[in-house]
Amino acid sequence: MTARPVDLTQLINRRIRDVPDYPKPGVVFKDITPLLADHTAFAAVVDAIVAYYGRGTIDKVAGIEARGFILAAPVAYHFGAGFVPVRKQGKLPAATYAESYDLEYGSETVEIHQDAFSPGEQVLIVDDVLATGGTARATAELVRRTGAEVAGISVLMELGFLHGRDKLDGVDVHALTTV
Ligand code: AMP
Repeated sequence: MTARPVDLTQLINRRIRDVPDYPKPGVVFKDITPLLADHTAFAAVVDAIVAYYGRGTIDKVAGIEARGFILAAPVAYHFGAGFVPVRKQGKLPAATYAESYDLEYGSETVEIHQDAFSPGEQVLIVDDVLATGGTARATAELVRRTGAEVAGISVLMELGFLHGRDKLDGVDVHALTTV
């Protein structure tokens, strides 16, 4: 794992707000809205993701609904890459591939347009928080089903105690901060 600049880690950690018992009792929600509202911090995280992979290495950036969209779009712009939305079931208008995964209670389904990528394209997946890893793993599977390749997964914050990266064998998981 590459060392992270201490000031970037602090910049992020100080601007992610813990909201206890949201959206349900026992969950500590990591609220990134203070970070997004701070232009220095927002720009620093976008720049750090682009610098980690390097310009010219990524063809498309896939953002996971909904907070992943906010981070993925400026990252795509700075890579000179396209943006692709990964959405909850039933939101995308054209033909999709779908992947379902289990949650603590019930299941969740994410979708991508079948023609989102060309075969062999290098795709970076971006989201705000990596928790159990189910969403990221399903997204990586969707990207592969289109014939494209997963260059990596970038997240603002990894909840290390949930071991999400263990579900992402063979994928480069790039977390700007880990708690
Ligand atoms: P998971 O599939 O468990 O890795 O959950 C990842 C998805 O759920 C991401 O899209 C996150 O935005 C969201 N998520 C999960 N846990 C949290 C949390 N504690 N705070 C904020 N977002 C979370």
